[in-house]
Amino acid sequence: MNMKVEKIQAKTLVRTSNRSPHHIHMNLYQGCYHNCAYCNGTSDNYHMHDDFGVTIKAKINAPELFEEYLVKKGLVPFNRNGTTTLDEFIESKNNSLTKYQTPKFLLSLFGNVCDIYQPAEEELQLTRQLLLIAYDYGIPVRLLTKSDLALRDLDIIKKIHETSFARVAFTVTLMNENDQKNIEPNASSTFSRIQAIKEFRNASIPSGAYITPVIPFIGDTEENLENIFAELHRVNAEFVITGGLTLKPRRNKDVFMQVIHENYPSIFNKMLELYSNNISYGQPDPEIAHNYQLLKPVSEGYHLAKKHRINFFEPRYIPNVKFRKNLETATYLARIGFLMREVFFERISIAHQFRQAAAELECLESDILKMSDSQLQKLPISQAVIPTIREILVEGKSTYLEDKGDFGELLYSK
Ligand code: SF4
Repeated sequence: MNMKVEKIQAKTLVRTSNRSPHHIHMNLYQGCYHNCAYCNGTSDNYHMHDDFGVTIKAKINAPELFEEYLVKKGLVPFNRNGTTTLDEFIESKNNSLTKYQTPKFLLSLFGNVCDIYQPAEEELQLTRQLLLIAYDYGIPVRLLTKSDLALRDLDIIKKIHETSFARVAFTVTLMNENDQKNIEPNASSTFSRIQAIKEFRNASIPSGAYITPVIPFIGDTEENLENIFAELHRVNAEFVITGGLTLKPRRNKDVFMQVIHENYPSIFNKMLELYSNNISYGQPDPEIAHNYQLLKPVSEGYHLAKKHRINFFEPRYIPNVKFRKNLETATYLARIGFLMREVFFERISIAHQFRQAAAELECLESDILKMSDSQLQKLPISQAVIPTIREILVEGKSTYLEDKGDFGELLYSK
């Protein structure tokens, strides 16, 4: 079916989360013409319109709303109007240093209910306008897409990276062209996405891949995963992340199963059985996955990334926040918890405590570096985690991560 574009005036745009106060998110579109069979945007929680993959609602006032948000935060467009430095801007426009606030957050344009470079973007250029504003205000950005249209904005992404930080990730799931067209019918080809990673890397812009979802019985073959990792190594991808397929009950699952029924009838019953538990987050039934000897997408991806010498996880960029050490420490703790739980399947209850401690430090309003031992003990953090926090703060390392060979790949030094 042909795409229909409906231009709408959004009332709100920027989304924030108390659990992640140094990120902002937004969806520039509702609906996505890429029309991936597994799209989470079709799940009931997003309350999207029925023809999600055909009618695209474009928030044409998004640039104004974004700029209003930044101005309310006390930010100034110091890269605009020919100024190249903050001092220049302040001298000519404000005459007051007190008016300026440093951006304390990073803009993630990942889109839960849209791809920022889907076909409607070609003409409407909402993503491009947002990036121009991000550049003007010195906002660091992370982008995720399934389209090589991202290369159109290489010029502005490069400028953002030169002045603050930019990273562009591409979702890559299936090397076989038929499978990719069955499952992600209107997205760029896998080859084009991988080539786009190469072009961003050649332009010295951080770029890597999300192999999400690894689709059971289709994308989880050794051939598919080995080929993707080999290609990512070839184009010098900076990082890779892998994750499994979730199918939330009702619409999300129904849409996916319809595509499987039409294109892969021989695996239809197995797939249906795998997701027969109908749990709200959409994970497959672990017992059935075990019976079918399905691989574990995260741990498999971790080991393949090691084999192909690609970072597993995106190194974190920390914006210019007040208590940087809090976020650095939180990043280490989150990584330890993740590795314990998802990769090495060890000490699951302790893993949870590490992740909770990381979440606590993300939001902590005082400087962990200046806290005494007794103050540290009073934080709502498990005692099992405190020695690791001390080790990171005092010795600048984590023995656990060093043992796993992971310590040096967590953060950008930029
Ligand atoms: S590109 Fe993303 S948002 Fe668009 S249909 Fe595919 S999964 Fe959904």
